[in-house]
Amino acid sequence: MNRADFPILSEQVHHQKLVYLDNAATTQKPQVVLDAITDAYTHWNANIHRGVHHLSQVATAKHERAREQVAAFLGAKQAKEIIFTKGTTDSINMLAFAFGEAMVHEGDEIVVSACEHHSNIVPWQMLCQRKKAVLKVIPLIGDKQLDLAAYSALLSDKTKLVSIAQVSNVLGIIAPVKQMIDIAHHRHIPVLVDGAQSAAHLMVNVQELDCDFFACSAHKMYGPTGLGVLYGKAEWLEQLPPAEGGGEMIEHVRWENTTYNTLPYKFEAGTPNFIGSYVFGKALEYMESIGREKIVAYESELTRYLEEQLLGIDGIQVYAQGEEKAGVVSFNRVVPTLIHPFDLGTLLDQQGVAVRTGHHCAEPLIDYLGVPGTVRASIGLYTEKEDIDRLIAALKRAIMMLG
Ligand code: PMP
Repeated sequence: MNRADFPILSEQVHHQKLVYLDNAATTQKPQVVLDAITDAYTHWNANIHRGVHHLSQVATAKHERAREQVAAFLGAKQAKEIIFTKGTTDSINMLAFAFGEAMVHEGDEIVVSACEHHSNIVPWQMLCQRKKAVLKVIPLIGDKQLDLAAYSALLSDKTKLVSIAQVSNVLGIIAPVKQMIDIAHHRHIPVLVDGAQSAAHLMVNVQELDCDFFACSAHKMYGPTGLGVLYGKAEWLEQLPPAEGGGEMIEHVRWENTTYNTLPYKFEAGTPNFIGSYVFGKALEYMESIGREKIVAYESELTRYLEEQLLGIDGIQVYAQGEEKAGVVSFNRVVPTLIHPFDLGTLLDQQGVAVRTGHHCAEPLIDYLGVPGTVRASIGLYTEKEDIDRLIAALKRAIMMLG
């Protein structure tokens, strides 16, 4: 779909046409996004908010317009609920600090799931260490789905926050976040949704989900690196202290006492990535121009095709087999013996096929699966059946070579 819009997809790797199946790590950029970067630096680059001069005002307007675009894309009620960050990791760290400072005390509990990325584990571990709080983990049933009964049982008066990935970057499974949020809200517990893997591949609407916080990364959504989003309901963000100090996040600075700016600026210390936000807006426009529902339906069918084709190869184990997945499929060749995923990945690369191998920044989950890692193929809106067929042919050849 729309492959011609992505110049990098015409590149050759090891003298072969590139098959790019590492979209869960980062997505490629359409020409409109590449053009937007040049346009910004060529025509209107100037620091925002602080300038009365023309270019500064143009840049400010574009940055704030991008905030509105993100709010519309995620279904937020107000643009001030969108905080620009450096990425999902930064968003989660920011919230772990701000929320942790204000709301978490000794003996309190934070709940995450067994299939989190390190960036939705380590910031909470650090918070728990700082505050002598406790991190609780929702178990998985086999390699399939989160155990919702265990989840309900984990929640108590001590639980201060639940933080869960909507889509696992290893298993591709889609957590029933709406249901999980309802369960948490029943006990007045707020929920952060890690949307790093969902924002570009599912129809996300934060008001429909009723999540309290949502984090995502522009680079996984056909946009630029170094930019992300922390959405928070205004009533929550108003209550939280800033995570970082500096320019722009203040109202007045006195030696005796500093007062803070209003939302969203309270959480955006220093010069924000205003070129990135503008460019991200172009990426969102691009996705909207294709049609988000069309993308989701297309990718869902392609993900099923990917899993079916993999299962057609002798000895392949697909993790979370048969579960509905959002663009991510992890597998290993396990019979007659396990082929190390790194070996498979290397031989695939030599045939021009880019996949990711290893623990995918989710070591606790990989340990639980009892393997050294997995091979992960992940698709984007430009992936075609032919890419998957190339992967399958290359995989068969690699398995034969590794014998
Ligand atoms: N959470 C999940 C589920 C992810 O897949 C990723 C990226 N692999 C992250 C968080 C971190 O995203 P970033 O590196 O863009 O901050």
